[in-house]
Amino acid sequence: MELWYTEEHTNNVRFTIKIDKQIHSEQSPFQRIDFFDTHEFGRIFTLDGIIMLTEKDEFIYHDMIVHVPMAVNPNIKKVLVIGGGDGGTVRELTRYNTIESIEMVEIDQRVVECCREYMPQTSSKLDDARVKLLFEDGIKFISNKENEYDLIIVDSTDPIGPGEGLFTEEFYRNCYKALKDDGILVNQHESPYYNNTARLMKRTHKRIKQFFPIAKVYQAHIPTYASGHWLFGFASKKYDPVKDLDDKYWNSLGLETKYYNTELHKGAFALPNYVIKMLED
Ligand code: SAM
Repeated sequence: MELWYTEEHTNNVRFTIKIDKQIHSEQSPFQRIDFFDTHEFGRIFTLDGIIMLTEKDEFIYHDMIVHVPMAVNPNIKKVLVIGGGDGGTVRELTRYNTIESIEMVEIDQRVVECCREYMPQTSSKLDDARVKLLFEDGIKFISNKENEYDLIIVDSTDPIGPGEGLFTEEFYRNCYKALKDDGILVNQHESPYYNNTARLMKRTHKRIKQFFPIAKVYQAHIPTYASGHWLFGFASKKYDPVKDLDDKYWNSLGLETKYYNTELHKGAFALPNYVIKMLED
């Protein structure tokens, strides 16, 4: 019998991948956690029936959420990751010797434990000496922080379930407060393509813009996310992500990346007209 994983991208669109084997399934106190092996995408990891990552295309998401801010400010030393339990964001951050501390605040300890067991590709650097794992709600964690971080990365689930509060005005106000004067906030910003996610991404941008003098959106092509067209938010108190890109510095590091390069960095901020219009509305 053939097994297929199916995810609803809208009420009228479904995305389906043929499964070779179900690897693990459990209900944590926060969400349903599943791992499957597939022929096309390798191992895939889902939460509440939504793909978090696949072995084959996770490099796109993790390159873009980490290397874009790191190429803008070479002096990033103290980083906070909210969510990110699979470890892919931390893995990319640990490649920078200049980073001194990485705090990862993940609400669901079972996500980290399962990814350590079933997704070593992303979780392999969670034991780096600079990484501190905290299992608590990122919304609460950030509420009493002030002037502490050079970079905050919100590597969250969608704004439903435990991730909902990571998209509120109060949360962005607290991120602004928790960042140093030249701090940068990067977050996963949903897709502009289908109405259900476009509504969320417009609302997210509007909220971030209220607090940060510089608030931009950039894009990447991620085949297993709804529509494949995915956005990230870049907000800062000081840096423009394109004008302040330090390409000479970043290229001098000699980091090998499968998706990111500094030319693509500039291009990622050049948005299609329909997205520009949505962000201006
Ligand atoms: N790359 C992924 C995506 O966009 O599909 C996100 C991956 S990561 C697994 C998302 C993590 O955010 C989950 O493990 C989830 O438990 C965590 N999370 C959700 N809400 C949170 C909260 N309020 N505080 C901390 N972590 C949270």
